[in-house]
Amino acid sequence: MKPTLIRPGGLPHSASTPVVTPLMPSVVYAAESPDALDAQYEGRTEGYTYAREGHPNADVLARRIDAMEGATGGIVVGSGMAAVTAVLLGLLKSGDHVVGGNQLYGRSLRMLRDDLPRLGIATSQADPTDVDSVRAALRPETKLILIEVVSNPTLRVADLEGLIALAKDKGILLAVDNTFTTPRAIRPLEMGADILIHSVTKLMAGHSDVTLGYVAAKDAGLRQQLYDFAVTTGLTASPFDCWLAERGLMSFDLRFDRTEATAQRLADHLAGQAGVKRVLYPTRIDHPDHARAQGLLRGRGCNMVSFELDGGRETANAFVRAADGIAFAPTLGDIGTTLSHPASSSHRGLTPEARLSLGLTEGFFRVSVGLEDPEALLACFDRGLEAARQA
Ligand SMILES: *Cc1c(COP(=O)(O)O)cnc(C)c1O
Repeated sequence: MKPTLIRPGGLPHSASTPVVTPLMPSVVYAAESPDALDAQYEGRTEGYTYAREGHPNADVLARRIDAMEGATGGIVVGSGMAAVTAVLLGLLKSGDHVVGGNQLYGRSLRMLRDDLPRLGIATSQADPTDVDSVRAALRPETKLILIEVVSNPTLRVADLEGLIALAKDKGILLAVDNTFTTPRAIRPLEMGADILIHSVTKLMAGHSDVTLGYVAAKDAGLRQQLYDFAVTTGLTASPFDCWLAERGLMSFDLRFDRTEATAQRLADHLAGQAGVKRVLYPTRIDHPDHARAQGLLRGRGCNMVSFELDGGRETANAFVRAADGIAFAPTLGDIGTTLSHPASSSHRGLTPEARLSLGLTEGFFRVSVGLEDPEALLACFDRGLEAARQA
């Protein structure tokens, strides 16, 4: 055999093109000449140079999510938290102040509480369901408000319209984490938010096999800042993860509609049963933000249902053990239903008093509804409830 160089290069020629996006794990891209590289760096031609600065699979995914969110030039990064980090550390500087929703995702709260103050960025928390509470938290140096539309795990609905008006009035950036609600229920950029964040890991990718994030800004200057920060700090997404997430997105609308319908059914099924103290689901009439949810989410719900059992830890243990077939795992948005118990997982770091002030008793559960047959799923919950009542 004739000796060859390591990378002789070139793909087999095909006059026809693949239907599926090819997976392109290449870290480097070879240019034709120094002149060609100049042209690329100077923006006269387009192309890739080094994967940390961008690669085809991330761009294909980003353009798909852009289209869903009505965004331009969004960036795919290595996790939802990488997206949160890009916004908080890439756009703010020492001396700035941030107001965060008081029920944000745990690690977002932690970044506000522990990391930003260490870097000289002051932070406060406020209740995003109440614009006056957010207004009261503002300072002359407030640069950004970070909220989620539907809070975790109590499923409270933010006053997004009020917050958009407040942020515009005060010249403050409004960043919305749309992970729970997704563009199927609400498109915050189109309503007037400035920045949009996703943990693509959850419903968008949907199969619990990738960790990815997405961030988009309306303003081109902010977009450039986010991009440069992400490239410099290496928030890069893996091409394989992007490729899997793109595949997951193909069925996103179907998954969302089906899990939303089952979630609604589950919420109605649980409500009023012996041993169930309360059920939280935004489209239910007994939800504290029912009227706002109807308007804001245009009658749509989400795939999340929370409920509270009468009883303490023993009851909770009995419920989980008997509801076998449902993964007891603190994630959401998977094709399979998952059950989480905030007191022993996401909110275990809080004092019991702080947990109680959020209503998170030992009997409180959050369900991320999946694609199972609804009847089979309800039967599973019934087994759990029966055991909980016996406990
Ligand atoms: C999971 C989650 C995040 C973080 O996303 P990762 O992909 O796990 O880093 C951020 N915000 C919300 C609302 C989430 O549910």
